[in-house]
Amino acid sequence: SALAETSQSFKGHDMLAPFTAGWQTTDQNPLVIEKSEGCYVYDVHGNKYLDSLAGLWSTALGGNEPRLVAAATAQLNTLPFYHSFWNRTTKPSLDLAKELLETFTARKMAKAFFVNSGSEANDTQVKLVWYYNNALGRPNKKKFIARSKAYHGSTVISASLSGLPALHQQFDLPAPFVLHTDCPHYWRYHLPGETEEEFATRLANNLENLILKEGPETIAAFIAEPVMGAGGVILPPATYFDKIQAVVKKYDILFIADEVICAFGRLGEMFGSDEYNIKPDLVSLAKALSSAYMPIGAVLVSPEISDVIYSQSNKLGSFSHGFTYSGHPVSCAVALEALKIYKERNIVEHVRRMTPKFQDELKAFSKSPIIGEIRGTGLIIGTEFVDNKSPNDPFPPEWGVGAYFGAQCQKHGMLVRVAGDNIMMCPSLIISGEELDELISSYGKALKDTEEWVAELKSQ
Ligand code: PLP
Repeated sequence: SALAETSQSFKGHDMLAPFTAGWQTTDQNPLVIEKSEGCYVYDVHGNKYLDSLAGLWSTALGGNEPRLVAAATAQLNTLPFYHSFWNRTTKPSLDLAKELLETFTARKMAKAFFVNSGSEANDTQVKLVWYYNNALGRPNKKKFIARSKAYHGSTVISASLSGLPALHQQFDLPAPFVLHTDCPHYWRYHLPGETEEEFATRLANNLENLILKEGPETIAAFIAEPVMGAGGVILPPATYFDKIQAVVKKYDILFIADEVICAFGRLGEMFGSDEYNIKPDLVSLAKALSSAYMPIGAVLVSPEISDVIYSQSNKLGSFSHGFTYSGHPVSCAVALEALKIYKERNIVEHVRRMTPKFQDELKAFSKSPIIGEIRGTGLIIGTEFVDNKSPNDPFPPEWGVGAYFGAQCQKHGMLVRVAGDNIMMCPSLIISGEELDELISSYGKALKDTEEWVAELKSQ
């Protein structure tokens, strides 16, 4: 039937391959984006879409912020490139480091190291932590604990830290020094009758047991996104980060906050660490750091780690790490301007003002018979489609329910992120109330289409 054909067409749909950056060919009829304006993008045929994922969780200031363009242009005209090796550097890079360290106030951070992406930031974390423990004369304290369903990037090491099977199964990953502990998804994993606090306690106990089993002297660091993004927008249950931090502290294990998605206002606080009272030893940043106008990532390092690296007794020599484009002056100039804009326009306050509409009106759709959970905070939200409202009753993957919903959104003028039957939305932080109305309306229309389609599939 036509319906079966439609269903078939969603099976192999690229939207079901959640971590595929395409080969650059036209064989699969890609959506070619040509232009952006605020929260909207246009394809080469002139179709306009509300971009509910802000590019890739990244264009926080929208698609045509003239101050960012001006900052890039001015820097290109002055010094398009210089590196940051051998104690040489550039003014934008120094200024950005200073500004970032002042902006991150969840705890004091001492130094910033620039890279080109979130993946490179997390790779850098691993080398920094190894270096730190080598400098302290404890070469066996080298393992990392990450979480199931985490996303930390796509390089060999950051994909290892990630906890998504697709990133491991096709490769010989994760690397042997990476262990994974529980995903903190209450709705999916809590036991009958277990409260959020009890669930958090159980997960903290599981973490402690893993540490004890491996030997605390072998565990170097724990890495976590404050809110998990690509794993399906998963929020920590109440008390989770307090309990996890107590465990890692007890065993002298460093805490790395991967703030690549959560930083710069996304959750209604400047950083995810502010939102959940996380006191990290190391922080990874990227994406909204430059509102994605130029590639840049950063690692922030605590004074304790910096002190070890720079102590007289450190015989290792300087931290031998860096990229040609570390601290690229154009990227730094753009990021510096983005930080100024976040502060001048009080982007955090704007996110807080928009949050009730975005969260409450979208969560009202969770009574839909095909939705299991809608979860989010600030300007990030995830929808999970399941049958019978139960996390244990997924729709048959070949139905491609998530992909169908994504295609309907596109038909109604909106782009969303689809990963299996998870839908993720994370619009530009400058989104207005009227634009949110449009987003919610497109979501509602696509949901209605999808409910009807699922009902027909079920009746066959
Ligand atoms: N960490 C998190 C939390 C991310 O969401 C991402 C990308 O989505 C990364 C790291 C990797 O960043 P990049 O794609 O810039 O390498």
